[in-house]
Amino acid sequence: MPKHTIITWLAIMGRLSIKDRLLKWGVATSAGCMLCEDIEESHIHLFSECCFVARLWKEVLWLNGLVRDVTVSDPQAEVGYMFTSIKGKTLRSFVLCVSWNAIVYQIWEDRNRRQLRGEIRTLETLLNVSRRLIGSK
Ligand SMILES: [Zn+2]
Repeated sequence: MPKHTIITWLAIMGRLSIKDRLLKWGVATSAGCMLCEDIEESHIHLFSECCFVARLWKEVLWLNGLVRDVTVSDPQAEVGYMFTSIKGKTLRSFVLCVSWNAIVYQIWEDRNRRQLRGEIRTLETLLNVSRRLIGSK
């Protein structure tokens, strides 16, 4: 979906309004991650280090038939893995690209729901939404 791709692009470029940027602008009052509430929220943390995101990503990889030990201690390795995996024109790379965009969008949407509406969705709820977006059962 185009909106997923745009959010992924903004996340890669570090242009989303995440707390580390909001704090610099004087808009946010706390720095904690909206998903794990553990560490300062930044682009790197939200899209690759967050333990909540790692669990979601691991499940989505499993849905795609890939068993991978997603490590939150080396976020650059995960991003590198994704860029390597989505290269090419194979069905697998296409599905991984769609999955990655869907997950990044889900993370962004869930983070905003928590911050703006106070709605907290469970990991299982996010997985169900992701399954529907990716097209798997
Ligand atoms: Zn987090």
